[in-house]
Amino acid sequence: MVDPRRSSRTLRVHIDRERCIGSENCVASAPSVFRLDAEGKAVLLDPSTVDVEALLLVAEICPTEAIILEDGAGNQVFP
Ligand code: SF4
Repeated sequence: MVDPRRSSRTLRVHIDRERCIGSENCVASAPSVFRLDAEGKAVLLDPSTVDVEALLLVAEICPTEAIILEDGAGNQVFP
């Protein structure tokens, strides 16, 4: 059985574009997962390139809690 903490495939990542202020904390911390689009808002690249702990860390350093994490059942894990 795969340890759910070892694979971000068990977490779904959403970005609340209304909340995103383009601070780029997420881009700096996980450039394989986030980038800013032409509007200066974060968009997703490939969340499976980092593990769950890294995703949680990035979500926690977003100043506006714009990064929303859900488990495989759709339950919100963060914030
Ligand atoms: S850290 Fe949060 S506010 Fe900053 S760009 Fe990423 S999603 Fe947007």
